[in-house]
Amino acid sequence: VRKKAMVTGGAGYIGSHVTWALLEAGWDVVVIDDLSTGRRESVAAAAAFILGDVGEPVTINAALAEHRPDAVLHLAGSAIIPESVIDPLKYYRNNTAASRTLIEATVNAGIDAFLFSSTAAIYGVPPRMPIDEDMPTQPITPYGTSKLCTEFILRDVAAATSMRYVSLRYFNVAGADPKGRTGQSTPISTHLIKIACETIVGKRSFFNICGDDYPTPDGTCIRDYLHVSDLADLHVTAIEYLVAGGASEAFNCGYGHGYSVAEVANVIRQVAGGHIDARIAPRRPGDPPQLVADARKIRRQFGWQPKYDDLRFIVETALAWERWLQARAA
Ligand code: UDP
Repeated sequence: VRKKAMVTGGAGYIGSHVTWALLEAGWDVVVIDDLSTGRRESVAAAAAFILGDVGEPVTINAALAEHRPDAVLHLAGSAIIPESVIDPLKYYRNNTAASRTLIEATVNAGIDAFLFSSTAAIYGVPPRMPIDEDMPTQPITPYGTSKLCTEFILRDVAAATSMRYVSLRYFNVAGADPKGRTGQSTPISTHLIKIACETIVGKRSFFNICGDDYPTPDGTCIRDYLHVSDLADLHVTAIEYLVAGGASEAFNCGYGHGYSVAEVANVIRQVAGGHIDARIAPRRPGDPPQLVADARKIRRQFGWQPKYDDLRFIVETALAWERWLQARAA
């Protein structure tokens, strides 16, 4: 008998990939999304769709009662770090308060499997690299704190009820579905690879390299870029683990190695096959010099074998999606 998953934020960048991965693995899927940043067209046609806010108790209780999912994957939220500094209350509402409402509704509906989309931002500026799951959590932005609060809620609720959860702490998610079905469509993205691809297709005339005086070998920041489809597959693996009775756990999601911004810029130039204007600019506030996952726990627990651990492929799929968006807009 087919299992059913509810994906909150399923019209967003990562959620739309997760929805495809669940459908391909034989799950039924119901997406709930308020379309504040997601796109209705990004949701696979085979998934049911509810337009609504998971932070509204009436909406979420009705959605769970109607669809009776076996598992909830909670990806809805706000994820722009600089915005969280300017408007922290938005982040505590969308990421913390809304999660509390959803978790309460999930527990009341008797659903025991809950997956949460967390972030490396909960570690702040870590004392050493790579980052393992037991390192101190000291977020330096309201975004990171708003996500960490939800991890605390989950920890305490799991201790008090039969609910079990997996927290996936994403590093730098990039790229797009290799089959071209979905990609990153948020108009206000601040992500390096997205912005660089917008430069290749001519939406921008240049992109910035934000800071070249960091304590790294070439002076630019190092990040662990992870292909969104590998991450989507991890969601399927993790939710199947929970539904099979797995215990609550947190996992860092990254490949375990990083690239500097200057290295990304070089791959961008190779993929573009021509001149791309990348300009040295001041540091961006709040950027830790290095964020690289210790990927041993997730590899060990799930026998994870990533398929797309290749920066060039990540950039190529992001670029293919950017070209598609541009052709559609024309
Ligand atoms: N970055 C950059 N130029 C840009 C956007 C980002 O140099 O136009 C840098 C940023 O300072 C950071 C890295 O690229 O060191 C990754 O930033 P991104 O916003 O993609 O992800 P984050 O690490 O902030 O989650």
